[in-house]
Amino acid sequence: MNNPSRTPTVGFVSLGCPKATVDSENILTRLRAEGYDISGSYDGADLVIVNTCGFIDAAVEESLDAIGEALHENGRVIVTGCLGAKKDAAGQGIVEQVHPKVLAVTGPHATEEVMSVVHEHLPKPHDPFIDLVPPQGIRLTPQHYAYLKISEGCNHRCSFCIIPSMRGDLVSRPIGEVMKEAEALVDAGVKEILVVSQDTSAYGVDVKYRTGFWGGRPVKTKMYDLCKALGELGVWVRLHYVYPYPHVDDIIPLMAEGKILPYLDIPFQHASTRVLKRMKRPAAAENTLERIRRWREICPDLTIRSTFIAGFPGETEEDFNELLDWLSEAQLDRVGCFSYSPVEGATANELDGQLPDEVREERRDRLMEHQEDISTQRLERMLDREITVLVDEVDDEGAVARSMGDAPEIDGLVIIPDGTDLEVGEYARVRVTDVDVHDLYAQIIED
Ligand code: SF4
Repeated sequence: MNNPSRTPTVGFVSLGCPKATVDSENILTRLRAEGYDISGSYDGADLVIVNTCGFIDAAVEESLDAIGEALHENGRVIVTGCLGAKKDAAGQGIVEQVHPKVLAVTGPHATEEVMSVVHEHLPKPHDPFIDLVPPQGIRLTPQHYAYLKISEGCNHRCSFCIIPSMRGDLVSRPIGEVMKEAEALVDAGVKEILVVSQDTSAYGVDVKYRTGFWGGRPVKTKMYDLCKALGELGVWVRLHYVYPYPHVDDIIPLMAEGKILPYLDIPFQHASTRVLKRMKRPAAAENTLERIRRWREICPDLTIRSTFIAGFPGETEEDFNELLDWLSEAQLDRVGCFSYSPVEGATANELDGQLPDEVREERRDRLMEHQEDISTQRLERMLDREITVLVDEVDDEGAVARSMGDAPEIDGLVIIPDGTDLEVGEYARVRVTDVDVHDLYAQIIED
């Protein structure tokens, strides 16, 4: 039974990708706005919300374990997120089958649904302390950087992916709303905005690039216009999940002019046209090598990060070698590679030519080994250069920062041994003194 004299308290477990983190932040913001307390432990909470991930099998397991633990420790559990939308072949919800005792299950991006279940099981406190909620909402990332979600869902149907079946088609957030949120983040001290979505380059396609308003002036719901507006806020702006469509060419000059960071996170996934077609990838037919060459001509400091899948069904040794040759030509800065692993419900599972585990693993290792030299050489170009970094951590041994080419959590670091007097969230000028495969070492430039 809840004690009516104390503030109702909700425990929160947040799993999954940056997009799920944004969902968590929205729910936490609403909870705080309505006067609920948030608890970091199960026993202090009246109920627990678990925001799950369902993208790969390991994430499903982690999410199911987290739900099990919350049920065991607390007993009153609401599940939200991608796993909540996942069904088995018979159309039965996976969460409900494994954990029938949960109070309710919703899919991702379901703040309203989650809030109405919370109201049902843990009534709202009578007098919400609305003023206690900071205008930028509640964030799970450190104070100085924040994810900005510009759209939800995806119009593509990549054969290895089930995100569209979980999150639906593309729905772009109105540009005015996105910019208002970005401004509130900057007002709250954020120094780096990370733009996320399923397909950032498709922003506004669903609303036919409708014109919205920001600060009283018209702005189109379009990637270029968004980047230009964000570039006026005076903080780092980093783009994730961009596809190499022709209109991406337009934003490279904004990078060259220093308006937004010269950084593109493009999940190429493969280079062989045959494999890309079987993957049903967007922009599969584009000549990306030529495009990358032109981008670098306009913006020589451009950092390109990408991910690849090795051992996709039907990938021949020839396709794979084509990918390695492509990597040699493309000279990407940062690369991640997964060996193909089937995701329940994905159409790629029906493709012929499924490869044995050893082949997928061996190709993944070969790709990473091949790329290592390329990434190191790209980083070596930074040696002796003076660069601006954003400081993430400071202690007695110095500071850890990131360059414009390093996104938080996925890329490298800049280690500054003489940075003990720097402050977290500060931009600093440093000279690069050494490099290794992933990280830079630097010293402060005295004024
Ligand atoms: S672009 Fe492809 S991989 Fe990315 S979310 Fe859409 S369907 Fe999935």
